[in-house]
Amino acid sequence: MNWKGHITLGIIMGLPFISAPEQIFLLVAGALYPDLDHDVKSEIVQRGLYISGGLILVSILAYLFRPEYFNVGFFIAAILSSLIYVIPYYAEHRGITHTFFSLGVMSIILGYLTFKLSIISPIMASLIALIMVTNNNLLGKSIAISVFAWVLYSMISTSFTTFQGLKFYIIPIAIGYLSHIVGDCITPMGCKALYPSNYTFRKKEGFFGVAIWALLVFYVVKLV
Ligand SMILES: [Zn+2]
Repeated sequence: MNWKGHITLGIIMGLPFISAPEQIFLLVAGALYPDLDHDVKSEIVQRGLYISGGLILVSILAYLFRPEYFNVGFFIAAILSSLIYVIPYYAEHRGITHTFFSLGVMSIILGYLTFKLSIISPIMASLIALIMVTNNNLLGKSIAISVFAWVLYSMISTSFTTFQGLKFYIIPIAIGYLSHIVGDCITPMGCKALYPSNYTFRKKEGFFGVAIWALLVFYVVKLV
């Protein structure tokens, strides 16, 4: 499935789980992240590695030479952001980033970092999460689609869920991520979502994923 398909499916599957416009950026970020393992996305991964590597270096230098400026929280955030890129850097296409394991780990890491940044502004933080997984071309298009989707969604003028705090950030990323795995499962190549097991998920499992999503919607959404 290509990026347009992933963004569209991510937004459709994610809408019942969000309550604020900026969360659409998180759905899209989750839906786009797994394909960072693709060669054409290597510029995004390299940029991320340079920036997060630079932040780690600054942190280590501060620790060694100016301990009064060293901040443990900043250091941990720098390490976590490097993980976001180290994993797709070493991954084969449709390898580890297309698994439930990675879905859990990456949604928590990216959600946590966004949550930390949200102290400044939730909208900016969510936008930064999207910037982290896109290049210029993809970023402009995904923002345009996100805004369009929100305009449509706002016509319903009700939110089905109201997740607070960390969940506000982690859940949309995880649902976007799930939509990516489901979307790739139903393509002929399928994907090995149960790593380290070699079992390949295909159409049947893809529809099973949609059923799980429907159950989640049923249980989590408070129809108000
Ligand atoms: Zn994919």
